[in-house]
Amino acid sequence: MGDCLFCRIAAGKIPATLAAETDDLVAFHDVKPQAPVHVLVIPRRHIAGLNDLDPGDEGLVGRMFGLARTLAARLGIAERGWRTVFNVGPDAGQTVFHLHLHVMGGRPLGWPPG
Ligand code: 5GP
Ligand code: ZN
Repeated sequence: MGDCLFCRIAAGKIPATLAAETDDLVAFHDVKPQAPVHVLVIPRRHIAGLNDLDPGDEGLVGRMFGLARTLAARLGIAERGWRTVFNVGPDAGQTVFHLHLHVMGGRPLGWPPG
């Protein structure tokens, strides 16, 4: 997936401000943050989006949430409140087609989202 932006970030070929790395996940700060804390958690493996999960990927997705929770604590938003979002497809505004979990906090977050 040489032309995938987030594959290139995961491989270290495009710079990003890393927040965490594990064997199968990378987390980095969003280049255009929508909240004081806005981190993206991605699998190293290319998966286009939540519609494209394979059977057996449940553990991977669970680890994405686990890392999100660790980062929320580390980045100081766990107590006040935070949000995770998977945008899926055009109506949700997905713009990068490599699975990514948004982790956001540090301000009151409106509901419902736009
Ligand atoms: P989506 O709209 O697909 O759910 O979210 C894609 C996110 O990736 C956006 O929040 C956007 O700001 C972020 N993004 C796009 N390109 C880059 C980049 O090159 N580096 C980083 N760190 N974030 C990016
Ligand atoms: Zn990719």
